[in-house]
Amino acid sequence: MGQWKTPLERWYTYLEKQMKEYVLIPQDHQLYSLFTEVLQQDEFTNLTKYEVKIALVAISVVPSENGMTMEYAISKEGNPVAAQIRLVTQRDRVLANYDAVIEYDSKLVDDFPEIKTKALFEHELCHLEVQFDKDGVVKTTVDGRAALKLIPDDFRITGFRSVIQKYGFDSVELSSLAEVLDEAERVMKEKSDEEAEKSSSSDDGGVLVS
Ligand SMILES: [Zn+2]
Repeated sequence: MGQWKTPLERWYTYLEKQMKEYVLIPQDHQLYSLFTEVLQQDEFTNLTKYEVKIALVAISVVPSENGMTMEYAISKEGNPVAAQIRLVTQRDRVLANYDAVIEYDSKLVDDFPEIKTKALFEHELCHLEVQFDKDGVVKTTVDGRAALKLIPDDFRITGFRSVIQKYGFDSVELSSLAEVLDEAERVMKEKSDEEAEKSSSSDDGGVLVS
C-alpha cells in the first residue's frame, strides 16, 4: 500500500488496465479438453477428488485508439509470461463458481505445440495445493469448498545479464541454471529418444511461466 511508483510504472499500470481482453475458455473447447487431460493425471488426484473448479482464461492485448500497445498480455519484471495462476476469493466465487483461474497470453500460447501447452498447464497446476489439517482432514472454506493454497516454484532463475556476461558459470545466476539443466538432462536421459525429441523441439523464446 502506498508504495511509490515511477511515472513509467504508473503508465504501464494504466496501459494494463486499458488494453487487455479476458476471455473465458468454455469447457467444451478443445483447449479445455487438453487441460482436463493434464488435470486428470495421478499427480493432481487431490484437485479432482475435491472437485476443485479451475477456469481457463485467455488474455489478449487490445490496441488502444491512440495506437499505443503493449507487447505482451502478462509480464513479470519486463519479461513476457506465458501463464499464471491465481486463487478465486470466496467473495468473487459468489459471482462465478471457480476456485482458481489459470490465465494465459493467447498470443504466445495459441502458437504453442500441444506438448508445450500441456507442460504449461502442468506447471500451473503444480502451484495449486489442497490444504489438510494435521489429522489429514481436508480444510474447507466458509462456503464449504476445499481450501487451497498456491505454492511457489521449486526453483527460480533471476539475475542480471551483466553479471552472467562477466562471471559466466561462476555467477549464481548461471550456476543455478546449470543445476537446472543438469537435472533436466538427467530426466531427459530417462525418457526415450523419441519423447526427448518431442519435448525439446520448440524454441522457448525467453518466455517465462509464473
Ligand atoms: Zn511457476
